[in-house]
Order: sequence, then structure tokens, then C-alpha cells
Amino acid sequence: MPGKKVVVLGGGFGGVRAAITARRLLPPDYEVTLLDRRRRTYICGSMPLLIVGEKEALKASRSLGQISNRGVNYVETEIERVDTQRRSVKARAGEFPFDYLVVALGAEYDWDAVPNSRAGHSFYDLATAQKLRSALSGLKRGRIIVAVASTPYKCPPAPFEGAMMMRWASKNRGVEAAVQIDLYTPEPAPIPVAGAEASACVAADLTRSGITLHPNAAVKELSRDGRSAAFTDGTTAEADLIVTVPVHRMARVAAESGIAGGKPWISVNPQSLETSIPGIYAIGDVNVVPMANSRPLPKAGIFASTEGDVVAQDIAARAVGGPRPTFTGEGYCFIAYSGKEAGRVSGLFLAPDKPKVEFEQPSLKGFRAKERFEQDWRRFRL
Ligand SMILES: Cc1cc2nc3c(=O)[nH]c(=O)nc-3n(C[C@H](O)[C@H](O)[C@H](O)COP(=O)(O)OP(=O)(O)OC[C@H]3O[C@@H](n4cnc5c(N)ncnc54)[C@H](O)[C@@H]3O)c2cc1C
Repeated sequence: MPGKKVVVLGGGFGGVRAAITARRLLPPDYEVTLLDRRRRTYICGSMPLLIVGEKEALKASRSLGQISNRGVNYVETEIERVDTQRRSVKARAGEFPFDYLVVALGAEYDWDAVPNSRAGHSFYDLATAQKLRSALSGLKRGRIIVAVASTPYKCPPAPFEGAMMMRWASKNRGVEAAVQIDLYTPEPAPIPVAGAEASACVAADLTRSGITLHPNAAVKELSRDGRSAAFTDGTTAEADLIVTVPVHRMARVAAESGIAGGKPWISVNPQSLETSIPGIYAIGDVNVVPMANSRPLPKAGIFASTEGDVVAQDIAARAVGGPRPTFTGEGYCFIAYSGKEAGRVSGLFLAPDKPKVEFEQPSLKGFRAKERFEQDWRRFRL
């Protein structure tokens, strides 16, 4: 019997890992194809460093063309439709029939959900981060607001990390006393997924750094000039720079595929990451995996990557036999406080009773681990 076709949609953390591991484990007559609209991709974890001039875009990127060297058939194309009945993907480059499909299309940002948010700033992708970098470099005094629009959003520590990096940069430039930073979040405390103790630690660190935290307040609207914001707790505030974390939604093609059954994110078997349709998996930001406390597993590249390994192993176990793997939810996210120190939220997020997560205090060692993580990503080890 000829080998089967594995098609991977999306070349981010999850899709790349799934494709590379599947290629390594599957017999040579299996075809592994990865589709993504962008050949060069950027690691979002570097954006808080990029906005303060501590990282250059090229050093935060990789080219998907390189996975062809590992036997994966990479096609640069816009994916248009997934036909789950005919088991085929329609893309601008043609039709891609599949036996196994890995949906790793990530989350998209809905900039219109917070009216006028485009008039403000963000650092949730390269374009917004570069624009913010330029605005920050000219800010000598005034107020910066970092404001989260809704949950879930990618990388729970990122808004806190962004605020800390901007505080550190203003200190380096000798304008710390003249720059006020406020952080608004819809959650009752920073990074609640890390547990009460860790959350209190981060809240205390923000206060110590002179960043004012406004919990239980999501940004709901910006003024036309992007310099005034309204929040869900009824307050409003003005600032020189308003930096939003946008509303996240499942990638459009994934939503239109019907695989999610009209829900906001694709439900999967938490162990195998297979959807309700046999042979179709969903990994990374596009899916929802509930933890024991009923909260969703955070959206983070490390989980997307591990999930990619798990689905590749699952497909290989079906192809050539062997034990089926289990996704355990072990992972971590960094939180840099400066260009020298980073903390880490890590643990077993899918532990049976409740997530077992701890916060490692910021240190030089932590920063080096963050740098290694990003280097591993650039070298396709993640
Ligand atoms: C500021 C910030 C900091 C972060 N820090 C960390 C961190 O320290 N550690 C960590 O683990 N995670 C971090 N993350 C989160 C991490 O970036 C995401 O969780 C991760 O990228 C999700 O991987 P994914 O494979 O699910 O999706 P993605 O990486 O988003 O990949 C999806 C891919 O699908 C492609 N695609 C989508 N639709 C189409 C289409 N129609 N046609 C063709 N291609 C399409 C896109 O081009 C994209 O390449 C951070 C995120 C942000 C924003």
C-alpha cells in the first residue's frame, strides 16, 4: 500500500514541529507537506525586547524554506478552505488531499473589536512592535498605558513583560521619573494561571518598579487619536502612548472549516490532540485544552511545539505501530524584566488535581535560558 499524505496547516511553533517530527518518524513513502502564507516568520517572544531596541527583527526570524532540507515539502501559499468531507485543503497554490491533517493556524487579532485600537500601539506582531519602538525612542516624558482587551491572549506574562521592559528602557535613558506606566488587565491579578503566590510576586515587582496595576479593567475603546481609552470598569484615561493587547480569535480558515462546531476555539482530545473528526488534529493557539481547574491551557509557543511532537508521534504510531503518546501539558513561559534578567512561569499545567505551576524569580540565568529558547526556535529545534 502506498504511503499516506500528511498535510500541516501553518508554519508557526506547532506546525513546524509537527512536520519535522512526522518526517523523522514516518516511512519515506509518506508525504509531509506544510503550507504557510509567509516564508519568513518572527518569534513573538522577542517583541518585548525589540520595542526597546534590545533585539533586531532579523535575529528574531527564521525562513520556512529551510525545512525543505529536512524532507518536508514546504509550500508558500494562502490556505483558502478545508473540506473535511473530501479530506482536501484548497490553497492558492492548488489542492492538497490528506489522510492526516494537522491544523496549526494559530490565533488572529481582531483589531476592530476595540474601536480605534489601530490608532494606538501594540507589540503583538512585528509591524506593531516596530511602530511602537519608533514612538518609544522619542518619548522623554508622559504616560504609557498597556491595556489588555480580553482573555485568552497569547503568552499570559507578555503584557507585564512589555511594561517592565518599557520601564527598564526609560530608566536607561534617564527619563524614568518623567514617564508614568499604567497596566490594565481584565483579570483580578497578574498571570493568575501561575497561582496566587506567583501572581502576588509579579504584582509586587510591578509596584516596586513604579508601574500602576489596574485589575478587573479591560480596554473597550480608544479615541480616534489613540490617546484616550475607556475601560470596562467605567473609568477612562489619557496617555501619550496606549499599547493594547488585542482581542484574539481562531484563524479564519480554521473557523470556516467547521471543525470547531461554531465554538471560539477547536476542542480536542487533550491526550492525543485529535479533533472529533478522525485523523484531523488541532494544535497550538487554535485549540482549547482544559486544565483541571477548568481554565484553558495558556496559549504559548512551547505548548504548540510539544503538541506538534505529540501529533507527529500519534500519526507515526498509527502508521508503523508502537505506543500512542500523551500530551502532559509540561511547559514554561519567560517574563523578562530587563535586557539582563528574566523570570519563568513553569510547571505541569495538566496535572490531575490542579495546574502545578511555579514562578522562578528573574535572574541572569533566566535571561540566558530565554535567549537559548529563542535560538532553539531559530534553529528549528522548537
Ligand atoms: C508578545 C508575545 C510574547 C510571547 N512570548 C512567548 C514566550 O516567551 N514563550 C512562548 O512559549 N510563547 C510566547 N508567545 C506565544 C507564542 O508566540 C504563540 O503561542 C505561538 O506562536 C503559537 O504557535 P502556533 O503554531 O499555534 O501559531 P502561530 O505561531 O501563530 O502560527 C500560525 C501560522 O499559520 C499561518 N496561517 C494562518 N492562517 C493562514 C492562511 N489562511 N494561509 C496560510 N497561512 C496561514 C500564519 O502565517 C502563521 O505562520 C508570545 C506571544 C506574543 C504575542
